[in-house]
Amino acid sequence: MAMGIDAAQVQDVIITHMHYDHAGNLELFPNARFHVQDAEMEYVTGRAMTHPSLRHSFHLDDVVEMVRMVYGDRVVFHNGDDTLVPGIGLHHVPGHTRGLQSVSVATKRGLIVLASDAAHYYENVHDELPFSTVENIFQMLEGYRKVKRLAGAPERLVPGHDPLVLERYPAPSEELKGIVAALDEAPSE
Ligand SMILES: [Zn+2]
Repeated sequence: MAMGIDAAQVQDVIITHMHYDHAGNLELFPNARFHVQDAEMEYVTGRAMTHPSLRHSFHLDDVVEMVRMVYGDRVVFHNGDDTLVPGIGLHHVPGHTRGLQSVSVATKRGLIVLASDAAHYYENVHDELPFSTVENIFQMLEGYRKVKRLAGAPERLVPGHDPLVLERYPAPSEELKGIVAALDEAPSE
């Protein structure tokens, strides 16, 4: 509500991957459909989760909640790169998790790529330094190149966890400083 958006009006929510800091709380969007990659659902409900080191970044409740949404006709699956609506693209970038998807958005400053955890920090992509939470390190490294190519220029790529994002982009209002970044504005260096 801080952004003036009523969660009940939201129709589509993109789940980039199912790690606990990117999933859950689906019931807060009672009228939304959730967009997820086939590979992610298979990953979080299959054999890989028998490995504690792979499942430790997932919360079982989040996974069960998503399964319930599948049975409630609230999930739209995507298999690889796809267009959600004109101007919003989904891009399968495995490596961090098997079904991670980054999102490209046409904005007033042109196309930007929201990498999510396909790029935790600017330096992961810039220096091709893999992040420590990884399912497939080769695919993670390939993913850095993919999001870089999709973005086309460094200032069009937005990493998922870099505190520099909040420093480089202005807040939409004074009270949202440090909480929300206006990614459609040009970043400072
Ligand atoms: Zn993650």
